[in-house]
Amino acid sequence: MNLLIMDLEATCYEKSPPPRFVSETIEIGAVMLDTTKLSVLTEYQCFVRPVLFPELSPFCRDLTSITQQEVNQGLSLKEAVYGLETLTWQHQSLFCSWGHYDRKQLKKECASKGVPYPFSAKHLNLKEAHSSFYGVKKMGMRGALKHLQIPLVGTHHRGIDDARNIAKIVQRMIQDGWNWLNYVESYEK
Ligand code: AMP
Ligand code: MG
Repeated sequence: MNLLIMDLEATCYEKSPPPRFVSETIEIGAVMLDTTKLSVLTEYQCFVRPVLFPELSPFCRDLTSITQQEVNQGLSLKEAVYGLETLTWQHQSLFCSWGHYDRKQLKKECASKGVPYPFSAKHLNLKEAHSSFYGVKKMGMRGALKHLQIPLVGTHHRGIDDARNIAKIVQRMIQDGWNWLNYVESYEK
């Protein structure tokens, strides 16, 4: 079994979003980690075109470093999610992410856009797992990297870089004796 570590970025505002603003995915980053060999089997990255509020706020561009042009040229959510699903056909895997945000955002957006949710009901919350395995408070990815003295590589809040950095945390946890099988949760699809 492999772990599919996914991190997504979405449209956002620092404060006062426009009326009826709905956040939409703008990048999907994913790393397929072989938990036995502790090696990366494959990666997936794509930009996604937001359709309800297509213009990125300056705050969102600054936070993520994703440009308007990148999302304009991005895939539709349907195409992006299909790419993610293809990974799950190629490698038997369990969907993992840091916290509940990515799972909830993907589920909600797939439902609202009529795109099939690409994963099973099972999910592994790595934020929770990191906290309970090491007996430390729940923290963001940056905090966990610091806690484990792993350097943050790339740009924080870029989906692919976040997924790679989270994969580093998971590799360390497994080296330290973490048994991920004990942490799998099941959610309504
Ligand atoms: P992350 O995986 O931490 O990069 O965050 C995923 C998404 O959450 C971002 O693309 C934003 O849409 C949203 N987000 C993260 N941090 C903030 C923040 N400080 N203010 C508003 N939205 C945020
Ligand atoms: Mg991210």
